[in-house]
This record gives sequence, structure tokens and C-alpha cells, in this order.
Amino acid sequence: MPYFLQAFMAGQWRDASGPEYTTHYPADGSEVAQLHAATVADVDEAVQAAEKARLHKSWAGLKRHERAGILYRMAAGIRERAEELAQLQRLDNGKPINETRALVASAAGTFQYFAAACETWEDQLTPQRGDFITMSVHEPLGVVGAITPWNSPIASEAQKIAPALAAGCAVVIKPAEITPRMALELARIGQQAGVPDGILSVLPGKGSLVGEALVRHPLIQRIAFTGGTEVGLGIQRLAAEKLMPTSLELGGKSPTIVCADADLDHAVAGVLYGIFSSSGESCIAGSRAFVHASVYAAFRERLLAGVRALRVGDPADERTQMGPLIHSRHRAEVDRYVQLGLSEGGQLLHGGGRPTGAMYERGSYYLPTVMEGLPNSARMCQEEIFGPVLALLPWHSEEDLLAQCHDNVYGLAAGIWTQDYKTAWRLGSALHTGTVWVNTYKVFSISTPFGGMKMSGMGREKGRQGILEYTRQKSFYWGLNANPMPWATPT
Ligand code: NAD
Repeated sequence: MPYFLQAFMAGQWRDASGPEYTTHYPADGSEVAQLHAATVADVDEAVQAAEKARLHKSWAGLKRHERAGILYRMAAGIRERAEELAQLQRLDNGKPINETRALVASAAGTFQYFAAACETWEDQLTPQRGDFITMSVHEPLGVVGAITPWNSPIASEAQKIAPALAAGCAVVIKPAEITPRMALELARIGQQAGVPDGILSVLPGKGSLVGEALVRHPLIQRIAFTGGTEVGLGIQRLAAEKLMPTSLELGGKSPTIVCADADLDHAVAGVLYGIFSSSGESCIAGSRAFVHASVYAAFRERLLAGVRALRVGDPADERTQMGPLIHSRHRAEVDRYVQLGLSEGGQLLHGGGRPTGAMYERGSYYLPTVMEGLPNSARMCQEEIFGPVLALLPWHSEEDLLAQCHDNVYGLAAGIWTQDYKTAWRLGSALHTGTVWVNTYKVFSISTPFGGMKMSGMGREKGRQGILEYTRQKSFYWGLNANPMPWATPT
């Protein structure tokens, strides 16, 4: 039986004004939720209410430790409902339960971290250079529009809501149309934790309608976006028209480098996890593995043994390592890339289609897929597939390796497997990516900034400075002159 969901607008739970739609469980196609999509008028109402609420003393008047108190309670509220939230998240996007548990834990950690950062961040007294005292202070930006994708909703939503609230902003969030549940649950938890009405609204609906209306709204002072590069570029163009800051967490085509001296068992485990966890529906999926020619054959043999042992199946089963893809249209798109790779000269080493068997019939499953023999210039090695497809590429010299790594529009993340820290530092420093993992992959820490270079985006989330992204800086000069000020003073 599907759930009936309501939007949360201006402090009220109610049906949004647009048409009703249904979301589906990717593992079997069953209906998960029924809800109404928001409209442009809903966006305006929520944003107007947010602007009013953020200026009201019940929010603007809170001391930082009081706002932090709300965020601590949100962290606790998430933890109290952790298992329920993990199960709901699984139903929303079909991720294996172990992964959704980790996402929920990460969301709680995010609220806790930004609560601590909120009550401890300090404004600056800058060095005195005249008969005045100078200060630089940070003020909340205003109403923030947050737009998120379907692949890790609760984590990416927490990463926007928590620092924005910590900074004293109000947030109107538009989750992906097909995964509205987690943002709504975060709003419920926020309401119970004491977030004043209007400060956090959730408007499910279409990106081209609700998302774009949010970006265009004159009262929206910042957009925090996670999603595809094409959509991000469109948002950036609109933002330029009103000089609005944005953070854009976009796509990737991340290389993983296996050096000749790598511990191959560790490297194989890392490459497998890097590309096949989340069924490859991850911006940081390590989708190109560059393996040194001297260990290529040995690595490939162990990798394929690992791929054959991967457990693809029911996301509710704790032993499952790969669940279904988000929906069958996306599976068709992933398959189209695999066929393209074959037509470009690639040889399939594993996968390349749907798994067979009764349990896979109704879900949008796709096999873990490995291909070799493609040049890095092939489209399959250049474009983001967002699925469980790995290209294996041998390398011979560091110069040639780096040229291939750089020859891509994206710059989100990279992995390096070597036992020599000097090699790791040399390669890691040379790579044009926002994150470099050395002898590990796809691990995260809320205390460490995350974001992309090149077409993978701009701005950073996480880390203490994550709050500052939601503030604007103001300088104060406090005059100390005992006499009327002189005409001009060099400083
Ligand atoms: P998407 O860009 O299609 O959608 C993301 C969000 O933007 C959704 O809420 C969508 O409704 C909204 N949207 C769509 N068109 C819009 C428009 N014109 N104006 C405003 N909003 C609009 O991405 P997706 O398919 O949901 O997610 C997959 C993409 O997200 C991949 O490219 C992936 O790499 C990227 N991603 C990046 C990160 C990161 O941190 N860098 C993390 C997760 C996913």
C-alpha cells in the first residue's frame, strides 16, 4: 500500500497545488508514495513565508548556542528514528539497507557537526591599522533554495539544511521528484526539534518547474545544488542574472590509479567498492581504473573474481552489495552506454545486461559490468554513466597516465593505490580533482570539505567553512579618534 505524503510549506503539512503522482520501489516496481507536486505559486508562498520567518525574532533573535540546540535535537531525532528512516530511504531509491543505514548515520552526524560549528565559529577582529578597530562579521544570507538528486537524499539534504540553519538562514528544499520522503522526514524532525514555522519548507516536484522557480525567485539569496552538470550549468546561468551565489555539486568520471607496487588485494577491494557500491549511482564512482601495465593481468584476474562474487539482489537483505538501478529508463540509458562501448571497440569482461532469475524480473537490476580495450578518448570513458560500469585501462608512464586522467571534463575525485607515499603525493598533487583518496576510496568525513573542480562543480560542502557558504561578510570600523577626523590618513 502506498503512503500518502503531503508537502511541508510555510509551517503547514498539506497537499501541494500541482497534479498527483506516484513514486515506485526500484526493486519491484510497487507503489511507494502518492503525493501532489508543487507549483510555482507554492514556491512563492513558501519563499515569502521563509523570508518573514527568518526575520522574526523567534529565529533572528536566537543566539548561536540556541540555534545549535535545535540542530543537536535534530541529530538526536534522526538517531531515534534511524532504522525506520533507513527503511524508508531504501524504499525511495532502492539502495541496499546497509548503505541507507550509513546515509542516515551520516545525516545525524552532519547535524551534530554543524551544531557544534554553529556555537563555536568566531567572527574576526582584524589587525588594527589606524585609529579604529576593525571587525569582520558574518550574517545569514537569507532564504536558501536547496535542490537535491535521488541517489543519496538524506545525506545530501542534511549537508545543505544543517549548515544553512546553523548560519541562521531559512531553507526551501526541492528534493528529487521521485525521492521526496527523506526531506519531508527531516522537516518533521526539525519541527519537533523546534525549527520555527516557515524556516524549513519542502516542495517535491519537477526540477524544470519547481526547481527553476526556486532559482528565479527574487527572495532566494543562494542555491545549494547537487545534481547533473547540465542542470547545474543552467542554474548558474540563471543565478548570474541576479548575482546570486551558488554551490554546485555536479557529475564525475573519477579515475582510480593502481600503481605497480600497490597491494593488489586492497586495490581490488577499493576499486570494486568504488564503482559497484550504490550500483555505480554515485557522483564519485571510480568508473575508470588505470592499472599499471606490469600488474594489469594479475589485477584483472583478481578483480573479475571479485565481480563474480558480488551479491546483486534484494535491497532489504543485509547481505546485498548491489541493488537495482533507480528505474528502468535509467537502466536502458546505462545499457546504451555499454552498447556504445562495445561499438567503440571495447571487450566485455563481465556483465553487460540484466541478471536473470525470478527475483530480478520486476526490478530495474543491471549486472556489474567491466570492459577493457577502450581508449580513454572513447565516450564510455569520457561521459558519466551513473551506473555499475567500469572501464579498465593499462598505463605505462606517469606522464601518459596523468595526461589521460586530465583528459576529461570532470574533476570530482580520484583514487591512488600505491605503497610509496612519495608516489601518492606526486600523483595526488598533480590530479585536477577536489578529492584524492590514497589507499582507500569513497570514505567521507563531515569535517573535510567536499566539492569538485572543472565541470564537477564549484563551492564546497562540509567542513567548518561549510557554514560560511551560507553567510555574507560585513566589515565594521569602530573609530577611536579623540579629535575630529583628519582629512586623509595613510593606513
Ligand atoms: P539532475 O540534475 O537531473 O536533478 C537533480 C535535481 O535538480 C533534482 O531535484 C531535479 O528535479 C532538479 N532539476 C532538474 N532540472 C532542473 C532545473 N531546470 N532547474 C532546477 N532544478 C532542476 O540529477 P539526478 O539525475 O537527480 O542525479 C544524478 C546526477 O547528480 C549525476 O550527474 C551525479 O553525478 C550528480 N550528483 C553529484 C553529487 C556531488 O556531490 N557532486 C552527488 C550526487 C549526485
